[in-house]
Amino acid sequence: MKIVRTTILPFKGFTAINLLGVLFVHPGVYLSHEMMNHERIHSAQQREMLFVFFYLAYLMEWLLRLPMRGNAYRNISFEREAYANQRNLHYLETRPHYAWRHYMKRRPHHHYQHRKTINR
Ligand SMILES: [Zn+2]
Repeated sequence: MKIVRTTILPFKGFTAINLLGVLFVHPGVYLSHEMMNHERIHSAQQREMLFVFFYLAYLMEWLLRLPMRGNAYRNISFEREAYANQRNLHYLETRPHYAWRHYMKRRPHHHYQHRKTINR
């Protein structure tokens, strides 16, 4: 994964953003294996959605979730899949295509993982 260190991206509140498989990250941010795995999961999602449909779906789901309960960003199915599996460094070896579709609905164990990772 190509990594670009810049103060311009990402926007406030975020430490890294994956744009078309290139990771933009602020200077000095430590990229853990977990964080890299999270971003690689997004790269897999983007490839299978032919990039443009990933960003359209991501934006649409975020907008739909804004008025809903909870953090809209964290509840996007692409993010739920990435956060739920980032600790499994072998996840991408066996991940089925379009696995994010199983994360559209909130499930108890996802909520548990969400609570565990919220302070990063
Ligand atoms: Zn993410």
